[in-house]
Amino acid sequence: MTTFADLGLSKDLCDALDHLGYKEPTPIQQETIPLLLQGRDVIGQAQTGTGKTAAFGLPLLDYLDPSDSEVQALVLTPTRELCIQVTQALRAYAANKGIEVVAVFGGAPIRDQASRLKNEAQVVVGTVGRVMDMIRRHYLFLDQARYVVLDEADEMLDLGFFEDVDEILARCPSGRQTALFSATMPPPIKKLAEKRMFDPETIKVKAAQLTIDTVEQFHIEVPDKDKPERLAEVLKAERPTQAIIFARTKIGVDRLARTLDRQGLRVKTLHGNMSQGARDGVMIAFKGGRERLLVATDVAARGLDISGVSHVVNYDIPNSPDVYVHRIGRTGRAGESGRAITLITPKQRDDLAAIERHAKTEIPEWTGANGGPPRRAPERERPAAEEPAAEEPAAEEAAADADGGATGVAEESTAREQPRGERRPRRRTRRSDDGDDERPQTRRPRHTKPRRAPDDGPTAKLVIGAGRADGLEPADVIAAIVDNCHLDGEDVRNVRVLQRFSFVDVPADRADEVVEKVKGNETRGVELRLEVAKR
Ligand code: AMP
Repeated sequence: MTTFADLGLSKDLCDALDHLGYKEPTPIQQETIPLLLQGRDVIGQAQTGTGKTAAFGLPLLDYLDPSDSEVQALVLTPTRELCIQVTQALRAYAANKGIEVVAVFGGAPIRDQASRLKNEAQVVVGTVGRVMDMIRRHYLFLDQARYVVLDEADEMLDLGFFEDVDEILARCPSGRQTALFSATMPPPIKKLAEKRMFDPETIKVKAAQLTIDTVEQFHIEVPDKDKPERLAEVLKAERPTQAIIFARTKIGVDRLARTLDRQGLRVKTLHGNMSQGARDGVMIAFKGGRERLLVATDVAARGLDISGVSHVVNYDIPNSPDVYVHRIGRTGRAGESGRAITLITPKQRDDLAAIERHAKTEIPEWTGANGGPPRRAPERERPAAEEPAAEEPAAEEAAADADGGATGVAEESTAREQPRGERRPRRRTRRSDDGDDERPQTRRPRHTKPRRAPDDGPTAKLVIGAGRADGLEPADVIAAIVDNCHLDGEDVRNVRVLQRFSFVDVPADRADEVVEKVKGNETRGVELRLEVAKR
């Protein structure tokens, strides 16, 4: 068995990986890490779920000089969700190295991120737009960025960022090392690689290997009008631990969510028309295991690593076989198993055939959870779920999750970064709305208040007597409120962490309760004092 040390990584990193439960390098890691350590430019043709973040992140962290406070490495990502995910992963890998990783992404106050850049940032992970913005405002200087990664380059291309990417690369030193990761290699990416990379070595991880190995795939042929009913049937039969249901359009997502709601299935939605705050709240709840069903568009769910996802349902068949691979990559992460079920109308048989060819696999008809091949996760995953309920997910996990979409950046590793053998069971609320789930429950108290639309009703501003000087981050504030008051994440808005004080908006009718329940709690060693701000 090849070990991480065999690949030439430092002891600091190997110890961190050991702590995270990474036993051996994945194929993409085995191939790319030695090349990157030698200083070669690398094109990795691999998608999320293969371990690509560590493949480029580990050599990056070993390359840096911890005593040099300049920005020495830049990782560009297409979306803020991926940006935060990569940041969290790099921080977990760098746990023993004392390297500052800073995330910059749109939808969060630019000043907070700028001050982090100013304080110290040796690695910057950023979305293309915000990185450009930071460069133009002279908050970010890349003249020492000698290690540059383009993550999910094809998504950057799809989202129209390529000119900016080219410009950013042009601002980095010409003698830099460049790694480019992309699931597909359309001509503009090849061109960019020719122009901006030096004699790159290409490493491919086959899509088929990704999907066949870890995801059981099925299809259901159904007339368009019967799709909602069939979907509800699938969800009831499959009883997913967590599922992402993909619909093609934002309107389609909302419509489907309403339909499922009417059928008694509680779902959350995620799409680009939602405010950042609402998206953040949904991601916090979903990643923390507090929500079970997520209806999403492709853009919103791109690149997310949500370890608990047992099922992906393609309510609408994806536009292209590549997108299919992306979508089902949300489940069956790094060796765990998952199930993917795709609904097709009779007219879409050819589209399914194209996907089968692309993924080099047959996608049989779904015959029900029991009629089909075994549907449960492999035995090695079971014991954790069968243990008695353990502690509530730790605050730092919630904090990391919160940062997964909120204003700041997580300091701690996420649940996915915990050693696999030691993962705490996630608490789940037993659902009465999805039939008779008889699996042992490790539950979290259900939210006590009925759900309301996040933008409903007046809000109250709370002032907290702690701030940046106490080491507080926006995520700490969100986590303290969400965890103690069982508010939905999207109810906690406008978090501002200043030097000595912080402010946050909560629904006015819950403000007193929040004060009462959060007051006196300790976060980062600080006892939280808070009150409703006087108007
Ligand atoms: P990525 O493709 O980088 O998004 O990684 C997918 C998932 O695999 C993440 O949850 C990683 O923490 C996990 N992972 C990456 N490399 C390894 C490894 N060598 N062993 C176990 N898990 C890994």
